[in-house]
Amino acid sequence: MRELLVFSVLLVAAFSRENFVGHQVLRIFPANEAEVATVLELEQLEHLQLDFWQTSAEPRRPTDIRVPFASLQAVKIFLESNKIQYSIMIDDLQTLLDEEQRAMLRSRSVARSTNTFNYAAYHNLDEIHAFQDLLVLENPGLVSKIQIGKSFEGRPINVLKFSTGGTDRPAFWIDTGIHSREWVTQASGIWFAKKIVDDYGRDPAITSILDKMDIFLEIVTNPDGFVFTHTNNRMWRKTRSVNPGSSCIGVDPNRNWDAGFGGAGASGSPCTETYRGPRAESEPEVKAIADFVRAHGDIKGFVSIHSYSQLLLFPYGYTTARAADFEELNALAKVAVDALASRYNTQYRYGSIITTIYQASGGTIDWTYNQGIKYSYTFELRDTGRYGFTLPANQIIPTAEETWLALMKLMEYTRDH
Ligand SMILES: [Zn+2]
Repeated sequence: MRELLVFSVLLVAAFSRENFVGHQVLRIFPANEAEVATVLELEQLEHLQLDFWQTSAEPRRPTDIRVPFASLQAVKIFLESNKIQYSIMIDDLQTLLDEEQRAMLRSRSVARSTNTFNYAAYHNLDEIHAFQDLLVLENPGLVSKIQIGKSFEGRPINVLKFSTGGTDRPAFWIDTGIHSREWVTQASGIWFAKKIVDDYGRDPAITSILDKMDIFLEIVTNPDGFVFTHTNNRMWRKTRSVNPGSSCIGVDPNRNWDAGFGGAGASGSPCTETYRGPRAESEPEVKAIADFVRAHGDIKGFVSIHSYSQLLLFPYGYTTARAADFEELNALAKVAVDALASRYNTQYRYGSIITTIYQASGGTIDWTYNQGIKYSYTFELRDTGRYGFTLPANQIIPTAEETWLALMKLMEYTRDH
């Protein structure tokens, strides 16, 4: 009897994947400051269970909100009665997720080499770990895997180190997937890893970079959240830590850094998507990187990759004060987005976080910049919202290819300065 009970509990767990049938993503265009404020009021109505995919802080820039079926009527009436313009961006989110699942099943195969690995598909954590191990095995003189910590649920936090030797070399850091649902970022990280080993010794630019600097690449920066997006809730963004005194799970790992922590642009409520956590570096996934950066002491460039919106951003997010290196960071951002656009004409906006999107406190690159890592940037990859977080897998390689051109500009500049 007891076994039967355990079995049925497991069964329920196995089939409790959150479904998004009838969920729509609405794109809202506030026409003026007053309408921006009115749209933001929706964020306070927790019972509507709204999920802000993209938030506008200025008129005529879109806010995208995932609205559960049960809240659709209320939200549409709210917008219409306030005469705020909106359109339906995604008519039924579950339809897109079903297609994504079918594509993953179709492409599932066990790769025995990184040459036969399918870079044009989304992969789960086990597959990514297997890929990393293959890459290390195939390139023992160039790639190693280091574990910098453990996630809240005990998973290893792995970083790939690309190094041509020497100790005490300066380094360049890249991370993807700190927000777990931003799947095109981890997929791009895999592609970058392969690109580095393929191009080293062939392409003079990456060769000269690696002859001077090490590259650290953390592909799955939020492993618990990433597993959860595969098993339970595709739209999971935060970590999976337990919040004492609350039934809500997780902290926003891009609000948990010790830079303006607790200020405006993050939430103190555990049930929100931008919950900052009880204290800076409360999340082991954040603390692992912060400890690594402090211990290394010579990281020259730091890039943290998100999606979506097509932006290249630099400090600050928590304060309107201009970064001391604003002009230089801004000029380099332009060079990088021009290089990115040269491949598929994908257009990016660029600028400081607070002037380009909105105020955000406790963010990754504000902390790294304050640590003295001058070339600290954040990308928001494709798209601008047609698919948002459910970017079709056939866009993975083009996204990675164009982003790589921008990353190369950032790394080359860092190497030379
Ligand atoms: Zn993100």
